[in-house]
Amino acid sequence: MSSATFVGMPAFPDAARGATADAQLRHNLRKATGTIRGKRGEVVEELDDWSELREAGRAVKDRTLRHLDRYLERLEESVTAAGGTVHWASDAEEARAIVTRLVRATGEREVVKVKSMATQEIELNNALEAEGITAYETDLAELIVQLGEDLPSHFLVPAIHRNRAEIGRIFRERMGEWGVPAPEGLGDDPRELAEAARRHLRQKFLEAKVAVSGANFAVADTGSLVVLESEGNGRMCLTLPETLISVVGIEKLVPSWSDLEVFMQLLPRSSTGERMNPYSTVWTGVTPGDGPQEFHLVLLDNGRTDTLADEVGRQALRCIRCSACLNICPVYERTGGHAYGSVYPGPIGAILTPQLQGVQGPVEKALPFASSLCGACYDVCPVAIDIPEVLVHLREKVVDGKRPGPEKAAMAAAEWVLEGPKRLNAAQRTASALRGAVPRRLPGPGAAWTDTRDVPDIPERPFRDWWRERSRSGRNGRGGEERG
Ligand code: SF4
Repeated sequence: MSSATFVGMPAFPDAARGATADAQLRHNLRKATGTIRGKRGEVVEELDDWSELREAGRAVKDRTLRHLDRYLERLEESVTAAGGTVHWASDAEEARAIVTRLVRATGEREVVKVKSMATQEIELNNALEAEGITAYETDLAELIVQLGEDLPSHFLVPAIHRNRAEIGRIFRERMGEWGVPAPEGLGDDPRELAEAARRHLRQKFLEAKVAVSGANFAVADTGSLVVLESEGNGRMCLTLPETLISVVGIEKLVPSWSDLEVFMQLLPRSSTGERMNPYSTVWTGVTPGDGPQEFHLVLLDNGRTDTLADEVGRQALRCIRCSACLNICPVYERTGGHAYGSVYPGPIGAILTPQLQGVQGPVEKALPFASSLCGACYDVCPVAIDIPEVLVHLREKVVDGKRPGPEKAAMAAAEWVLEGPKRLNAAQRTASALRGAVPRRLPGPGAAWTDTRDVPDIPERPFRDWWRERSRSGRNGRGGEERG
């Protein structure tokens, strides 16, 4: 079963009702998203060529997706030539089976993980646990989520819904069960909390023989993988263990290093609001005597080629998971990420998850409606994904075939009239002639529509007739020239 949604979560309207009633959650979200939003705004303003950079990012991603088959084959060749092994996973089940088999083959019962949305998408931790293998999350926010038996709610800050008092409590109560316990009397000072996490995680890094990662980018020309993070935990995971297994969505490809350069500028500014990323780790296959001596790359489809086949929806595959659309979204700021019931929350989750999973389930059906269509997500997106356009497109898919009979008939009639200028003219004249007979409230099922909207006034004569008359009398300033 593919699993880009959280099992058992209610659909957005129900989940959002509960979330918006939680004043503490709203406070945490407002504070966190407001801070990141402000930082992003400042560093983006600094660049005169931001819009050109954004356009370059869009173009590189579109070109890559257009020739994805070719670039994927090139990536496989490059990784293999550099001493790595490439595995192809068509869905989540296959990916889980590959990773589990690879870990079992090492004889290890523990793995360290660097934050990876792809492994959350395939529910890897549960699959490993079922085989008696424990996965330790090493990103600070992911650690908080794991110790709190919680779910992530943001790409960049998965524990954004928690404040430091809650984090202190989780560390005090749960750290000891997973390894080095929290120090006696741990409070909620951010430095103390970070130090407790550092001591706890260091033991894991030093003991681990196997690591599982994702990747922000994969460079087809050289077979290099790139992870951008802010804490240094990724660097530890990617260099200390003997075996490294990376699970990467097939859309993470860029053709060459010069293409990568564009995203190394776009991503830090859009995500953390930094000019440069603190820890950028790049590795290419294996190097004798340096870093992991066994490297496996699991390339994950899991609905991506289906998404690619959709002319409108495929732009969602450009996403570089910067989270700018989450931080700007008025809906996300009030509900948080859990309400989406999806591994990918916020505006991008609302268009990505229904495409990866299809729009059959209640969670996926509700997601395209979890938006006010204000368009702020499009404005901030560093790769110019027109999220509102895809939302509307997916809404059409959800309602297709379920539209009530009268509405369907009305839409078909409107389409027929609007398609022919002569028909439109005749319809407008008829409407003007009958304007006195048009009711202010529609009867039957249409009443719900007119309860909250006014039926517009129909003019005495259609605009075209009025314009033509003015033209003939010379009042349009072109000596009677006909227009319109
Ligand atoms: S859709 Fe755009 S803004 Fe949102 S996470 Fe993806 S790249 Fe960032």
